[in-house]
Amino acid sequence: MHDPGRVIIIGAGPTGLAAAHRLHEFGHQDFLILDPRPTPGGLASSYVDEYGFTWDIGGHVQFSHYETYDRLLDTAVPQGWINHRRSAWIWFKKRFVPYPFQNNLRYLDEQDRERCLQGLEAAIVGRSGGEARNFKEWLEDTFGYGIAEAVLHPLNLKTWGYPLDQLSKNWIGDRVAVPDLKLLRSQIVECEDDDRWGPNRIFRYPMRGGTGAIWAGVASLIPEKHLHLGSAAVTEVNEREKIVRCGNQATYPWDTLISTMPLDILCASVPTLPTSCRLAAEELKHNSIHILGFGLKGNLPECLKGKSWMYFPMSNSPYSRITALSNYSPHMTPQGPGYWSLMVEVCESPFKPVNEKALIEDVLHALREDLLITSESRIISVWHRREEYSYPIPTLNRDNALQAIMIELEKQNIFSRGRFGGWKYEVSNQDHSAMQAIELIDRLLLGHPETIYRHKEIG
Ligand SMILES: Cc1cc2nc3c(=O)[nH]c(=O)nc-3n(C[C@H](O)[C@H](O)[C@H](O)COP(=O)(O)OP(=O)(O)OC[C@H]3O[C@@H](n4cnc5c(N)ncnc54)[C@H](O)[C@@H]3O)c2cc1C
Repeated sequence: MHDPGRVIIIGAGPTGLAAAHRLHEFGHQDFLILDPRPTPGGLASSYVDEYGFTWDIGGHVQFSHYETYDRLLDTAVPQGWINHRRSAWIWFKKRFVPYPFQNNLRYLDEQDRERCLQGLEAAIVGRSGGEARNFKEWLEDTFGYGIAEAVLHPLNLKTWGYPLDQLSKNWIGDRVAVPDLKLLRSQIVECEDDDRWGPNRIFRYPMRGGTGAIWAGVASLIPEKHLHLGSAAVTEVNEREKIVRCGNQATYPWDTLISTMPLDILCASVPTLPTSCRLAAEELKHNSIHILGFGLKGNLPECLKGKSWMYFPMSNSPYSRITALSNYSPHMTPQGPGYWSLMVEVCESPFKPVNEKALIEDVLHALREDLLITSESRIISVWHRREEYSYPIPTLNRDNALQAIMIELEKQNIFSRGRFGGWKYEVSNQDHSAMQAIELIDRLLLGHPETIYRHKEIG
């Protein structure tokens, strides 16, 4: 087994914790995680507000692609899970349509439904016309103008906050449901719903403590001496002196560096990186997110019973997605009858600024308009958190930029992985992120190839 020497891990989110746990499993003792947040979990943390409602940083559910990851979670959260069948919906013209929208057109008015079907037919006929050059063209080519205009364009604009022709189509994989026209027509005639699509149609959620309980559980499997939480953020990674320096001037030596901090910031913190790398890092784009939690008491509106989450393409609301979080576990609210909660996601970007001062009022206004909060319920708590880094945007030039950066970093024994460490949206969920870390450790110690985070040099 290869000895990586002193390993410093920047960040105690799922990626950093999984890397640390794997090192610990191999019996490697010489490692330390640094993170300015006082608790582990990064974007997958949870918070309990002063009224006793638990909040995640946006809708987080577990639908893992990997056995190793599932085993880690089972060990980390022994107090139990609740299994759910996804109940996801799109709020379109004052009605809920099952997700994915394009598979459930029978819910629409006849006029809208015909426009969607005609658009899809035209798209199928015109498909041989040439390769879509970006995500916007791919949506139109795949679903047709009707579905694209009604839902997919506005919803994706709200979610990404970037013009869709600036996004590539390379990340799509199994993330967007591609409809089958013949099947759609027969479902309309037979009045059948089709909500089975997708890898997350069954998911699990911790019984207690929200998503953050998972990562608190993983952290508890790692001896405390390896965790330096609530420290100042790393501001410099010095390859010549082989130290990292934090904002409080504390320094830590390293032989191997694993970083999960945002890659653009990492590049600006490594003085030995060539200018070409810094320029490449400027190509990396991200959006930000506002999470608003509304803790309520009263009757849960009938329309929310059993729902997991809902998408909102319409322009009356600032939000793109709302999770009915109290439906995930009875322990997400204060104990006692009549408590329930909604968690709202609002994206912010240079193309989609958010007026923070008016945000809560704007959201509440839309929630009432969308009939999600009625006079039957009293708002007990309003929780607001903004995260600067929310989605790594799969821009057209992303892969070239990543390639240029990763080669130079690895020459200096710096390995950047995870949601914003790796900057690949398509492999940036918790399972992907943690598995990137596990595979990286297996590569460094055992020489095994990485399969989830790949670039040319890694193979
Ligand atoms: C709105 C939203 C919804 C999501 N939904 C799901 C879902 O349903 N299912 C799913 O599996 N995943 C979901 N995710 C993705 C999930 O949050 C990520 O996969 C996961 O958090 C990535 O882990 P990470 O460790 O790579 O990054 P992070 O969680 O971002 O952790 C990085 C850590 O690095 C620390 N750090 C940053 N800069 C520095 C520095 N300079 N010095 C030291 N430390 C630093 C941060 O404080 C942070 O703790 C969602 C994400 C968002 C934003």
